[in-house]
Amino acid sequence: MNLFSTVELAPNDPILGLNETFNADPRPTKVNLGIGVYTNDDGRIPLLRAVREAEKARLEAAVPRGYLPIDGITAYNSAVQKLLFGAASPLLAQGRIATVQALGGTGALKIGADFLRRLNPSAKVAVSNPSWENHRALFQAAGFEVVSYPYYNAETQDVDFTSLVNAFNTYAPGTIVILHACCHNPTGVDLTPEQWQQVVHIVKERQLVPFLDIAYQGFGVGIEEDAAAVRLFAEAGINSFIANSFSKSFSLYGERVGALSVITSSEAETLRVLSQLKLVIRTTYSNPPTHGGAIVAAILNKPELRALWEQELSEMRERILSMRGNLVAKLKQYGANRDFEFVNRQRGMFSYSGLSAQHVERLRTEFGIYAVSTGRICVAALNTRNIETVAQAITQVLN
Ligand code: PMP
Repeated sequence: MNLFSTVELAPNDPILGLNETFNADPRPTKVNLGIGVYTNDDGRIPLLRAVREAEKARLEAAVPRGYLPIDGITAYNSAVQKLLFGAASPLLAQGRIATVQALGGTGALKIGADFLRRLNPSAKVAVSNPSWENHRALFQAAGFEVVSYPYYNAETQDVDFTSLVNAFNTYAPGTIVILHACCHNPTGVDLTPEQWQQVVHIVKERQLVPFLDIAYQGFGVGIEEDAAAVRLFAEAGINSFIANSFSKSFSLYGERVGALSVITSSEAETLRVLSQLKLVIRTTYSNPPTHGGAIVAAILNKPELRALWEQELSEMRERILSMRGNLVAKLKQYGANRDFEFVNRQRGMFSYSGLSAQHVERLRTEFGIYAVSTGRICVAALNTRNIETVAQAITQVLN
């Protein structure tokens, strides 16, 4: 018998599979609103000027390529802490945050999941309904039972906060709750500051373990504003996990730059937690790659590059917001039989558009417009050249 004769074909990743179909589509007017990538008005993934400058300097410095420490670049990790918690956070001064460089946001989630699994193997993990698909898969793969908590109400196009609170109130102490710190993927619908305060209160009271995922800092309202939820948990002194990604905010998708930060109760605890995170990393990929981390550290730590990056990040954010406004206005102008004003209230790269799987199917077959079957569209892929086509096509499949 052949070793692999019983191996089953695993299903395609639905979003990446959609991408393959898109690439094979010969229609010149095709539009890809499926994948979660920011493209400029010219339809291309930008290479930020700040990144180019930092790369030029690094190339000129001709740095040898030794191994990084297991937890990554020190200047990178401390820059991550300042960005997430604010430079003035007392937790930084008290040494109460353990941060490790990670392979993107996904890598950060995985290191956190593996550490938590060793710490509390019987804990359940709760993810929002809906959520980024990989949340469930990743925590299941780490060995956890994953449940979901109510999040989105399709009728109100808003958070079903009462149901969320009711669910949290049933969870056993130690339950790990995955929270999108800003720019919820896939809905684009975030908690309000008041709702975040209530969540912090419940999490503390019920001794839940918050695991915040922040993959879009700077894409919602602003760099500081988008970190507000992280800072609320920090101020409350709750032992929390924070997975952050720079894939989008630095447009460095393929370089795999992110970090995992854990809020501890003391400096001594930080050392112990850090030692365990390093053990997980050592036995997974030994140590992180240099390039992306070095570039991000240089940008965050050099004032001129930092100012340039902040400017470019705000341009990306503003462009997305203007595409939201444009889409809503054009759908109205073409006489779509629904009010899309809710799209203007959503934040980040995505919108739960309210389109059904049938609408999405028609958009693809009749117009070459690709979206996820749940109706999620990537607003960050709209531009002045494709928005007319998209708005007209949506109007046609709806009316
Ligand atoms: N979390 C969320 C909510 C995301 O949307 C993404 C990226 N799509 C990630 C994590 C993963 O980020 P990365 O590509 O940096 O691994």
